[in-house]
Amino acid sequence: DGVAYMEVRRPCRIMMLVNPQSGRGQALQLFTGHIQGMLTEASVPYTLVITEHQNHARELVRKADLSQWDALVIMSGDGLLFEVINGLMDREDWQEAIQIPLGILPGGSGNALAASVHHYSQSPPAWNEELLLSCGFMLCKGLVGPLDLVSVHLASKQRLFSFLSLAWGFVADVDIESEKYRHVGAIRFLMGTLVRLASLRVYQGRLAYLPVKEAPKLSKGSFTTNHPPSTPQHPSLCSSLPCQFIPNTSPNPSSRHGTNSNHNTRTNSSNNAITTKRPQIESDTKTRAPVDSLLPDLEQPVPDTWTVVKEEDFVLVLAIYQSHLAEDLWTVPGAMADDGLIHLFYVTAGISRPALLRLFLAMEKGGHLACGCPHLVYEKVKALRLEPITPQGMITVDGEVVEYGPVQAQIHPGIARLMRG
Ligand code: ADP
Ligand code: MG
Repeated sequence: DGVAYMEVRRPCRIMMLVNPQSGRGQALQLFTGHIQGMLTEASVPYTLVITEHQNHARELVRKADLSQWDALVIMSGDGLLFEVINGLMDREDWQEAIQIPLGILPGGSGNALAASVHHYSQSPPAWNEELLLSCGFMLCKGLVGPLDLVSVHLASKQRLFSFLSLAWGFVADVDIESEKYRHVGAIRFLMGTLVRLASLRVYQGRLAYLPVKEAPKLSKGSFTTNHPPSTPQHPSLCSSLPCQFIPNTSPNPSSRHGTNSNHNTRTNSSNNAITTKRPQIESDTKTRAPVDSLLPDLEQPVPDTWTVVKEEDFVLVLAIYQSHLAEDLWTVPGAMADDGLIHLFYVTAGISRPALLRLFLAMEKGGHLACGCPHLVYEKVKALRLEPITPQGMITVDGEVVEYGPVQAQIHPGIARLMRG
């Protein structure tokens, strides 16, 4: 049917959000220099939105008429995507809104999701402009797959949605302290790590988690019913974007990603396609954000299905749900965007400075777990709780500082959608 064919294959409309302050302050130049031409060549219409202040994107996305857009793409660091995701989850129609495909182009100094998405595409490691080109190319291909989000509760009852990490101790301190070196780009984390190592300290607190092995009985504390857990290690739940630009106007004819070209067929019209109508949500199912069925009240003790960590002296606690913590930190070798897992790492006190440095250096190639370090623990979990005892400190969510104090979190498998390779 010719008419339907044309309708389905109208070009996708992208809202391109650029944070001109991110990274070395060059995101806009990088966009005009490397991405604009690619999108033009591929006939992808986009509207450029340059953020003017913190939370600008969050407010904009909270109120936007999303029927006008087929994807929201963020050209910044991870911080701007954090804003966008929380803006979508603030909405009354969050259940529908959060299904708009999200894209990421590395324009910041902390580009963990961009590095992760590039890694999931099975491409060899890339940095800086090469990473940007790879992500731009993925955007033009238009494949979309599920993305897990983690719901984070703070002591003030505030709730956040996170796509990357929850950190306390060494990693959080480095992340925030190194912001003053933002002008040097991604290497800021290495500089911050060296500075923090010199003043290495111990952070006291209690940590508990719900391990994956001891998943709760299905009848009681199971996942929210509308989002069944996705299969770990699923290679490809994505499908093609049926836009007219995809197959034959590829801006990179060498196709260095070696992707199966079947993914790019024009005829594919599966539900994951970016222009497919998103499912209608009945009004009586509208609630303010998904139910965290695995989490008790933050004041209540954790259920006895949880594991309580004996140690209370830590150097770091890091919950991460993507493969990369930064462009050159391959923190979770097996992670997928939709593996339904929180990868929990902690390092207990007593580790020497050289041993900690070795872990971070090994992480570039994902080799830290093979270091045999007795202070490093790694668990796959569905939920966790952290209660700092040290009276002051830093907790970050997706690299952004949040209120310091008790915090708990649980995974929501595949509730968002991510543009990927
Ligand atoms: P980086 O990786 O360089 O830290 P981010 O995307 O994480 O880049 O952005 C850093 C912070 O800047 C985030 O907290 C984000 O909300 C905020 N932000 C977004 N737009 C602007 C702007 N126009 N001016 C200042 N800050 C902004
Ligand atoms: Mg940031």
